[in-house]
Amino acid sequence: MRDLIIIGAGPAGLSAAVYAKRAALDVLVIEKNPLSGGQIMNTYEVDNYLGLPGISGLDMAERFRDHANKFSCDFKEAAVTGINKAGDGNKPHFIIKTEQTDFLAKSVIIAAGASHERLNVPGEEALSGMGVSYCATCDGAFFRNRTVAVIGGGDVAAEDAIFLARSCKKVYLIHRRNELRAAAILSTALSELNNVEIIWDTVVESIGGEGRVEEILLKNVKSNETKILNVDGVFIAIGLIPNSLFFSDIVDCNEKGYLIANEDGITGTDGIFAAGDIRTKKLRQIITAVADGANAVASVQQFLSNG
Ligand code: NAP
Repeated sequence: MRDLIIIGAGPAGLSAAVYAKRAALDVLVIEKNPLSGGQIMNTYEVDNYLGLPGISGLDMAERFRDHANKFSCDFKEAAVTGINKAGDGNKPHFIIKTEQTDFLAKSVIIAAGASHERLNVPGEEALSGMGVSYCATCDGAFFRNRTVAVIGGGDVAAEDAIFLARSCKKVYLIHRRNELRAAAILSTALSELNNVEIIWDTVVESIGGEGRVEEILLKNVKSNETKILNVDGVFIAIGLIPNSLFFSDIVDCNEKGYLIANEDGITGTDGIFAAGDIRTKKLRQIITAVADGANAVASVQQFLSNG
């Protein structure tokens, strides 16, 4: 039985792995993707991580993984499907279930992150991969000299629009309000780009096209006016949903599905901790995820020493 199993190898999970190895814990990291890094793998450039301005998401992910490897951390590629509590009340342990096999641990840090929210409009699913994308860095190159729309008003939407403007002919940023949620520095950068046009107070009603995206139907939420906009691609960046589906029966979640935990990572379930984007918090950033990983390990150490 391991001292600790960490679920997820994004910034929170990898940071927890480094701290756990340095604390001489017997730790295993389970990650469902062959490459670790989580959402940063899809980030073109990270400009707000202290000490590494302008680093690419891929480089950052590689550095994080190298750091964990330096401490000879064990990794297992598997998709976790649930956690069961076992043992007696005084000395419980956890069975971490995956599609292949089960793993046993005295404690668990859930750092499974979050995924892209869907718009849930007609055409979105059918044209996914045929012009509908949730990752500008992954798919932007397919739209060189084309016209695309980015949906959303947060950091990701702004960053995507800036990234796409480098290669696309025209980028529409479509936001449901008249003010961006994105950081001011991104709003300023957007306003300086000649090929970016922000369409305010507008939602997407449907996405259309024969075998590929050709148009989107827009509705102005103030005037209720609708119009068709011809685009070749639609990048949806409307936020995140926590990857908590398989943990909601063992850890309390809030109404949006985030695992309820503070900075110390302590959840309502003794021995299970939460770190990174999957937990309740105000600021979901790489730097706060990394801090979460360290804090959660401190809580794990306390838990194990009390056991
Ligand atoms: P977000 O900050 O939650 O923004 C989502 C945006 O989508 C909001 O503007 C929201 O509109 C809009 N939206 C939500 N549902 C919608 C719907 N059904 N239809 C139309 N628009 C909808 O999400 P995010 O941009 O993906 O960022 C996620 C987290 O990662 C945030 O905490 C963000 O700060 C962080 N992040 C940080 C960095 C960085 O540090 N460099 C980079 C990227 C992301 P309203 O504004 O009206 O709610």
